[in-house]
Amino acid sequence: MKKKTAVIFESFQENLRIASWEALTCAIEFSEDGVDEITLVLMDDKPKTKAGELSRQSGYPVIAIDIGNGGLYNSERTLSMLSDLFRNQETTHICLAGTTQGLDYAPGLATRLSKQCMTAVESVVTEEQNLCLARAIYGGKIMEKVRVDASGAVIVTQPGTFKPFSEETSGAEVVECLTIDTPAESIHNVKVKQVQKESSALAEAPVIISAGRGIKEEENLELVQRLAAVFTKSAVGGSRPICDLEWMEYKQQVGITGATVTPDLYLACGISGAAQHISGMRNSGFIVSINIDPKAAIFNYSDVCIVEDLTTFIPTFIETVEKLKPA
Ligand SMILES: Cc1cc2nc3c(=O)[nH]c(=O)nc-3n(C[C@H](O)[C@H](O)[C@H](O)COP(=O)(O)OP(=O)(O)OC[C@H]3O[C@@H](n4cnc5c(N)ncnc54)[C@H](O)[C@@H]3O)c2cc1C
Repeated sequence: MKKKTAVIFESFQENLRIASWEALTCAIEFSEDGVDEITLVLMDDKPKTKAGELSRQSGYPVIAIDIGNGGLYNSERTLSMLSDLFRNQETTHICLAGTTQGLDYAPGLATRLSKQCMTAVESVVTEEQNLCLARAIYGGKIMEKVRVDASGAVIVTQPGTFKPFSEETSGAEVVECLTIDTPAESIHNVKVKQVQKESSALAEAPVIISAGRGIKEEENLELVQRLAAVFTKSAVGGSRPICDLEWMEYKQQVGITGATVTPDLYLACGISGAAQHISGMRNSGFIVSINIDPKAAIFNYSDVCIVEDLTTFIPTFIETVEKLKPA
């Protein structure tokens, strides 16, 4: 059966989110060229101009929905509009990015449309000649490949895992503008205030040493700092639990809700490799991981895998480097 896929584009502060372009890549990879249909949906305040640009840039037709309300996201209204739209469109697959907004409305949309909801999709793979969606489960230890039946699904992509769509197209502009009436909402968003992120040394450092929950005790952070000092220009980062424990500042957190980093060398100490961490560091030049678990997911993304207790390995490594230094 032919797939009819809709990709929902999100905009923020006048720009289309990169994660939405990644969701489009997922939809294209999950479609059979020349057989399946792809339409883009843009929800925005006065979306006409942006929808025109999106259609020309992508080469796909765009449905532009005016959400009014100064463009402020409202989960009730979004759900109402999208479920009305897709009920009338016979859309089988709906692809969107796993942003804060996307993760907020995707499960509700799937329920209203009686479709399954697949979150954290990282890639499209072929299994026994069927296109499948792949995602990490059990803290990233296992890659699950899921075949979606013809009735379709709501597919939520993990930001940072697909390449953003960037093909040159010479597509003509095809835009349909819709206004969808919705019932009065019980929730009214007043304002969106962006968090002022403090800049951290992570953005500039060619070497990042990151600590995860495997360091076990705050005192062991000293080991990580000593390891960082071995390199002339380095910075110390961490996984989210380490920041939640207040052992590090949030500006040092690497991952989907922290910083995205691309140092020449990323050294992960006691980090398991959950998808949310990986999406922030997977594009580092060279990745070395220290973990006592030989099956840790981070090893799937590492150039060098060290299966060792970090409290044994790090002091031995520092001692060896010290010995090798010219007197
Ligand atoms: C919406 C959302 C957003 C998130 N955003 C982020 C994010 O931005 N960044 C982030 O990091 N996480 C994020 N998370 C959390 C994420 O899912 C994981 O829980 C987290 O990354 C795990 O951190 P960890 O690897 O330090 O800890 P764990 O998963 O507990 O892993 C600890 C690892 O240390 C190893 N270990 C234990 N002892 C030793 C030892 N002595 N020597 C060596 N290795 C040892 C263990 O084998 C294990 O692999 C997010 C989660 C959600 C739901």
